[in-house]
Amino acid sequence: MTNPSIENAPVQTSNPADMTTDPVQAWLDRFERQLHSDDLRQALSLFAPDAFWRDLLAMSWNIVTQEGAAAIHHLLAATARRTRLEGLRVRGRAQVGRDGVVQAWFDFRTAVGEGVGHVRLRDGRCWTLFTSLRSLQGHEEPAGLRREAGTLHQVQRGREHWIDQRDARRSSWGQSAQPDVLIVGGGQGGLALAARLKRLGVSALVVDRHARPGDAWRLRYRSLCLHDPVWYDHLPYLPFPDHWPIYTPKDRMADWLEAYCSVMDLDFWGSSPCRRAQWDPQAHLWRVEIEREGQSVMLQPKHLVLATGMSGFPNRPSYPGQQDFRGVQHHSSEHPGGQAWAGRRCIVVGSNNSAHDIAADLWEHGAQVTLLQRSPTLVVRSQTLARYRKPLYSEEALAAGVDTELADLTVASMPARLAPAGQIAQMNEIRRDDATFYERLEAAGFALTFGEDGSGLSAMYARRGSGYYIDVGASDLVAQGLIGLRSGANIQRVLPEGLELVSGEVLPADLIVWATGYGSMTEWAAHLICAEVAQRVGPCWGLGSGTSRDPGPWEGELRNMWKPVRQPGLWFHGGNLAQSRHYSLTLALQLKARLVGIPTPVYGRMSGD
Ligand SMILES: Cc1cc2nc3c(=O)[nH]c(=O)nc-3n(C[C@H](O)[C@H](O)[C@H](O)COP(=O)(O)OP(=O)(O)OC[C@H]3O[C@@H](n4cnc5c(N)ncnc54)[C@H](O)[C@@H]3O)c2cc1C
Repeated sequence: MTNPSIENAPVQTSNPADMTTDPVQAWLDRFERQLHSDDLRQALSLFAPDAFWRDLLAMSWNIVTQEGAAAIHHLLAATARRTRLEGLRVRGRAQVGRDGVVQAWFDFRTAVGEGVGHVRLRDGRCWTLFTSLRSLQGHEEPAGLRREAGTLHQVQRGREHWIDQRDARRSSWGQSAQPDVLIVGGGQGGLALAARLKRLGVSALVVDRHARPGDAWRLRYRSLCLHDPVWYDHLPYLPFPDHWPIYTPKDRMADWLEAYCSVMDLDFWGSSPCRRAQWDPQAHLWRVEIEREGQSVMLQPKHLVLATGMSGFPNRPSYPGQQDFRGVQHHSSEHPGGQAWAGRRCIVVGSNNSAHDIAADLWEHGAQVTLLQRSPTLVVRSQTLARYRKPLYSEEALAAGVDTELADLTVASMPARLAPAGQIAQMNEIRRDDATFYERLEAAGFALTFGEDGSGLSAMYARRGSGYYIDVGASDLVAQGLIGLRSGANIQRVLPEGLELVSGEVLPADLIVWATGYGSMTEWAAHLICAEVAQRVGPCWGLGSGTSRDPGPWEGELRNMWKPVRQPGLWFHGGNLAQSRHYSLTLALQLKARLVGIPTPVYGRMSGD
């Protein structure tokens, strides 16, 4: 990868000072020499006993973090010889932080491709090492000097043009040809992966039950807007233009996804729900039934990617009396907006992102809204979040040479185990800065949490993917009492006219919105494939932190996401826009390597092992 910005980038240290590359290059040189010696224990002496090594494919063909010297030795012993890590060269200048940690980016080669790495040295020994495979030798993406011609500037009778080839390809799927990869789900995740695969020359088809790319956003309530700022939200290869608003409204996001699908020349079947999939262990392929225009089409891809959305499998709680409710009730994913509810009584059950958004939307339409909060919720103001993301995702970051790719790599270079320390400090700062905001919320009776260990939003997102609200205005309505609140409220039963709480209080309602969240992506595997496969694969997401809804054992990586799982040919892809962007490359490289026969021995455990 050639990325000039990395050469000038200030990497997140406290007040970093540039220094010559010597100490880091010297460390890399010694490391490379030891890697090729017969005694790998010498290489280990270059690591601190509490060192970490996070690897995305380069050594492991997996996504793993090795913690401590013994684990690093294990990785080296299993993979060093076959990987042939070499050519380790510092990019630009190393930097030193106030804490004395010296860090630098570096390039490397392996037996199969090229990668980028990052090292943090403490007292001359490695504290954290990060290695990420970025391209496969002989299968480099056709960008820049390698771009394709597009046509032949010559005259030739009967030749096919691009449009003929495209149409023939698109109509061939399931008829005369099979895609190597079938991606179920054409949201941002599925489309980003399809774009990566396209560039790598892998045939891929995206199917979605919705009609148009972007419908997952388009069909939601009108007020929905991205809660993350634009710098965090780019799709691979095609960033938003530089006048794009900071917070993208959902219909613009939908249109962008549709345009992306077209411009990136992705093969997309809309209105085509995937009904079921079965792995054929003899033929080593899937048999997948898609319902297309009322017809059942059987596809036989080698790989099946579930990009069906973390927020795709609604949790619908069941309470006595629910079927007798005289008003309207629906899950938050089905909420069409507050237009019909002016002057009516609405209860939103839940207190996370969707619940707040929908409560605010109903209030804007003149409804009387009550939010039912069952357990404490983490709230962080979107402006505050944007401020803390500035060093990596902002105009200021870009001006300092930190482009999106470098920002993503920087985030990826931090082992999950080390992240909470910094996150706790940051959350404490936020609590101090926004003290008045939090006091007002508490005064209104809102139950707050900042995470079980006070580590805030990023940790909670990684651990359970829920439990928080990025405040874009609803908190003020709660604090002012304009949105009613019942905190610590548990539902006893649903009455024909509303909800009865365990406390005995009855809340009359014309509308109940169940903003009760979503199940694990593995539920899609159970639904589309079978319970046995879903059970074998285990849950998606979560680090094994041992905190609520993220039971141990510690994995140190998001379970089953973007990496091999305990079912051949099955992959899970998703997450927020930044994760979709970054890890779509990691997943695409794994698929490409397997399809062209590059050996991909998977090191380390898979989730659930
Ligand atoms: C209020 C709110 C604010 C948010 N703000 C942000 C933000 O700022 N940034 C951000 O990154 N994320 C944000 N999100 C989260 C965002 O919705 C998800 O991160 C995102 O949609 C995930 O993308 P995805 O492609 O993985 O899944 P989805 O967008 O959910 O796409 C999954 C697709 O799979 C399709 N599908 C499912 N099952 C089948 C089947 N059997 N057959 C065919 N197709 C199927 C669905 O139709 C859907 O189109 C927000 C969410 C909410 C509720």
